[in-house]
Amino acid sequence: MPLRPGRATLSKPFSIPGGLGRFVDIAIIDGYTDEPAALGVPPYIAPLPRYLAGAAWTAGCEGVLYSTIDEVRRMSRKGTPRKGPRPRGKDRDRDLLAMPDGDRYDLQVLLGGAVVPGNYLRGRPASVRELSEIARSFTGQTLLVGPVARWGWTSGEKMTKAHHEAFDHVATRDGDAYLHDLLRGEEEPLQRFRTREEWASWSVEGAGIVSSSRDMPHPLIVEVETYRGCIRHAFGGCSFCTTVRDIAPVFREPSEIADEIGAMDRLGVVSYRLGGQSCIYSYKALGVGEVESPVPDPRALRSLLEGIRRAAPSLEVLHVDNANPAVIADHPGEAEMVTQLIIEHCTGGNLVALGLESADPAVHRANNLNATREQCMEAIRAINRWGRYGTDTGLPALLPGINFLGGLPGETPGTFELNMGFLKQVLDEGLLLRRINIRQVAPVCGQMEVKHDQRAFRKFKLRVRTEIDLPNLQALLPYAAPIRRVWTELHDGNTTFGRQIG
Ligand code: SF4
Repeated sequence: MPLRPGRATLSKPFSIPGGLGRFVDIAIIDGYTDEPAALGVPPYIAPLPRYLAGAAWTAGCEGVLYSTIDEVRRMSRKGTPRKGPRPRGKDRDRDLLAMPDGDRYDLQVLLGGAVVPGNYLRGRPASVRELSEIARSFTGQTLLVGPVARWGWTSGEKMTKAHHEAFDHVATRDGDAYLHDLLRGEEEPLQRFRTREEWASWSVEGAGIVSSSRDMPHPLIVEVETYRGCIRHAFGGCSFCTTVRDIAPVFREPSEIADEIGAMDRLGVVSYRLGGQSCIYSYKALGVGEVESPVPDPRALRSLLEGIRRAAPSLEVLHVDNANPAVIADHPGEAEMVTQLIIEHCTGGNLVALGLESADPAVHRANNLNATREQCMEAIRAINRWGRYGTDTGLPALLPGINFLGGLPGETPGTFELNMGFLKQVLDEGLLLRRINIRQVAPVCGQMEVKHDQRAFRKFKLRVRTEIDLPNLQALLPYAAPIRRVWTELHDGNTTFGRQIG
């Protein structure tokens, strides 16, 4: 259990509700998060577990354990003492999940929320059943945080009243702020967002828990936020999206981000992704909140990226994540400068994920999507113009990725034909894609009707894998072209799956 460096004991004892009257130890169990703008499934670690640790240490907590749902599953199989109700029915013979050595902790913080679940090789997000089962088997207080607490949804499953009742506290806004106030002695903390000062402080204070990751230093990728929220907040945002709902964008200062990364560099972290935001090109962009497609600010990006490079001399991987194609297409001059800065300061094999979601204009209109197919095509051309050239990683410097979403309102069988037509145009123009991500929408936001045409969706996926992915990959990586620094993740018979870290 890592103790906060330099503060193994406190000057005065304090208590959490219930009046323990002594130092407090907490356990954070990471059930992994996957949101439209942020990923925390291994080998990634999301910002929230680190902020939770920072909030706890800042509140005076003595010891903070960081563990993951996979570790709890593994330890439970090895014979963790059983507490709480036994599973019933067809589940009665399976192991009951419980945290190993749970009695050593006063408070258990459970974190989860795969609101846009994908396929993962290295970890499986916790289900609501698992999270509530672990909470029930724990004798101390429990706090549920993360997207599962906010939206009552994870891994395609909705939380029921019975699931909710397993937890003493459910933080529906920032779990780190709730935890901090709880540890400070408030019996019923307010549901609130962290302040800017808390954000700057907790991100640095909590960096130490990365040392507990089994993936440290390779293949761990630390997800770092440059801002929260979406630049389309004032304009409603995409119908399915959780990122845009709660709060207008709040930008972090380059120095705050550099401080956080500097703290992790000193601990031995070598790989980072600037994720957690809806569009890296819109970092501190001009006109946010006034226009739907703000003007990128290359000076802000330069300050951000140069600061990170100075703060992290051991850095091996620096990648970015999402971008709004409309911003790149509407402001070609500024966007081009940002593209060049990303190529100059980040490492090879980098990817800008473009959320087209659907190439069908009717679906675009029905869901207030962020970019038209024309804007997305223009963004793909713009990124290819500068980013398609090779690097020492064996992959191009920077390529676009495309996200599609099945099941959106307005979708018809013709939608999939339009999506295929879009991808064929990409191939015909000789443009490269780093990857094509195809998922199905989940009705997390509650106000949308989701109908999945599973047959048409599966057929579309298969056609993309055979008719688009294959020729794209052949152009990207001709047979026997070397890719360097590949981390092998899974053996399946004679096939081994690996990924280049990033
Ligand atoms: S652009 Fe759409 S999907 Fe992306 S964060 Fe904003 S609202 Fe969400």
